Amino acid sequence: MINIPYDVVIKKITEKTGTSQAEIEIKIKQKMEQLAGLISKDGAAHIVANDLGVKLMEQGGPVKINEVYANMKNVETQGKVTKKFNLYEFQRGETTGKVASFFIGDESGQIRITLWHDQTKEFDNIKEGDIIKVKGTNARLNNNFVELHLDTNSQLMINPSGVEVGEVKQFSRQRKSIADLKEDDKNIELLGTIVQVFDIRFFEVCGTCNKKLQPGPDGPHCLEHGKEKLDHNYVLNVFLDDGNSTIRVVFFRNQLQNLLKKTHEEVLAYRVNAEGFESVKNELLGEVIKVIGRATKNKMFDRLEFMSNLVFVDIDPEEEIKKMAAESKQEPQTQNPVTPETKPTDQPL
Ligand SMILES: [Zn+2]
Repeated sequence: MINIPYDVVIKKITEKTGTSQAEIEIKIKQKMEQLAGLISKDGAAHIVANDLGVKLMEQGGPVKINEVYANMKNVETQGKVTKKFNLYEFQRGETTGKVASFFIGDESGQIRITLWHDQTKEFDNIKEGDIIKVKGTNARLNNNFVELHLDTNSQLMINPSGVEVGEVKQFSRQRKSIADLKEDDKNIELLGTIVQVFDIRFFEVCGTCNKKLQPGPDGPHCLEHGKEKLDHNYVLNVFLDDGNSTIRVVFFRNQLQNLLKKTHEEVLAYRVNAEGFESVKNELLGEVIKVIGRATKNKMFDRLEFMSNLVFVDIDPEEEIKKMAAESKQEPQTQNPVTPETKPTDQPL
């Protein structure tokens, strides 16, 4: 099922049928009672929309970026390139794969576009500021953020004629000092210096779906794919110091690749060559980074930690300080939790 938020479903039904929100909610409740225990509130809302003849997804034509929901297929959308990441090559068995990604934005939001294999051919020709139109893409949820993936049936157009994009909605993120962080703060930007680096921790995951393995009588396995293909995932903790306080910042998989500017395979090499990581640690120490993410409580240790969703390295501290001074004079930024600002790409298929 396409993960259109419940509130959005209600709003669409109201708009298209004139039925009041209260009436729709009653219908949804009835539907749930009718299908006692077999359907979720979201599922019931979809059925009610269908019963009332409301199409939740318009067929054909581009959708606004904030109307791309997880699990949508054959998505067409367009936007201006706001950030381009690196192209990575990776080895999977006999074959070499490629993956690259970038963000596009329109006036409704921003979304990460991920290109695989042959689709990456166009990647070099894409510049920040270009208008990109994509067709036939699939929306996937990754770390709670929706992103669009292109496959062999997808199309990508660079600066297609007749397509205009208005002012791009900026990621709403709030700069905070570490001392002001609170549990469950989201879309927070921290700027600080890495003052301590721990060892990378590796753990086994399913090589097909990238999910954590579950224990079983024959050892750890994937509930869906068994033990056919195993891979490793990894996490690194560092201490970030912003001049007043420090916090432990956690970098999972893609975030760690971005922090180290290394590919999946290069990071994996440290699993067997832990000493090789020592020099990397030394390079990281003293580095100024900007991290966007969320503060979470580590219940086991009863401490606040910061989960990285997007990390910027090669920061010019002077520039950042100037920017902070300029922004602090402006109106406080609004917080909008639905902006898809941070979408670490999925692992290569
Ligand atoms: Zn699996």
